[in-house]
Amino acid sequence: MNDSFGRQIDYMRISITDRCNLRCRYCMPDGIIQCDHDEILTFDEIVMICKEAVKLGIVKFKITGGEPLVRKDCADLIKMIYQIEGVEQVTLTTNGVLLKDYLEDLIEAGLRSVNISLDTLNRDKYREITGFDEIDMVMDSISLAVEAGLKVKINAVMHDKNYKEDFENLISIAREHPIDVRFIEMMPIGLGASSHLVSNEELLNELGKRYGEIEFDKVKRGNGPAIYYKIPKFKGDIGFISAIHGKFCKDCNRIRLTSRGELKSCLCYGNEISLKDALKAGDSVKVGRLIKESIAKKPEQHCFEEIENITEKKKMAQIGG
Ligand code: SAM
Ligand code: SF4
Repeated sequence: MNDSFGRQIDYMRISITDRCNLRCRYCMPDGIIQCDHDEILTFDEIVMICKEAVKLGIVKFKITGGEPLVRKDCADLIKMIYQIEGVEQVTLTTNGVLLKDYLEDLIEAGLRSVNISLDTLNRDKYREITGFDEIDMVMDSISLAVEAGLKVKINAVMHDKNYKEDFENLISIAREHPIDVRFIEMMPIGLGASSHLVSNEELLNELGKRYGEIEFDKVKRGNGPAIYYKIPKFKGDIGFISAIHGKFCKDCNRIRLTSRGELKSCLCYGNEISLKDALKAGDSVKVGRLIKESIAKKPEQHCFEEIENITEKKKMAQIGG
């Protein structure tokens, strides 16, 4: 279905939990946003929503959180969504800590592509950022996922004035492995608003200084707004998702579903459409109508550059990124 600005909406990000096994300092450092289990959508409810979404042309889904893999049966949900006729792709965004434990189940469920969030390769800094000493688990997950044949992308947010070593180390992953490394600009959502913003312009400049021969890749890929650069002899590419300095709203293709059953048509704004009552009543027709309404009301653009106009009060872990 197209929204009122002619954009084709074919992608839904589904947050399946507010809970997380990490405490990233710009996301949920205190971990106190978790809601009760009975507020969280059941897998049957999520499947009902996906079925209605598919009828409207939403055929690609991203499972996110909180940390989606803290819901132990996450692989079952992926399988259930893949069983819906018309679904083209289900992917996952994870911090990677538990990925290796569930890898086999996830692949069996149909998963072919995973995004792993990792902001540094330095053990001490990883602990400072996330609150936990789990970097070995994440690195193991990355290796095992690549070995198992998954398409792996690393998502990194540079949010520290001393980012250069992290940037260099993360880039080296794309040099050595067939993994795309993408840099996401910090968005002023939740604690992101008070965090340091390293612009992707600055990172691109750094990339050019280090590897003069970077080449913009014109091929549009994936569901997202990343733009990619190729570097000679690198096995993976370097991507930039520049929500602030590269406003990509005109190509936005997505809506978001929170773990409590609210539809969000833009990250920036707090107005949501709740599916809870329709789900409780088992009214799939109404669910479909509400998804349609959310798409129809999708705003033209975000307002991250005018912080005073941002009405979203949630933290990113409640939205799913
Ligand atoms: N726990 C999973 C993970 O870390 O990948 C999924 C949820 S997490 C909210 C999704 C992504 O959002 C992560 O890559 C995280 O770095 C990013 N993120 C969190 N807060 C952000 C912010 N204010 N601006 C930009 N990205 C943010
Ligand atoms: Fe958890 Fe992901 Fe937020 Fe870190 S970014 S606290 S891993 S939800």
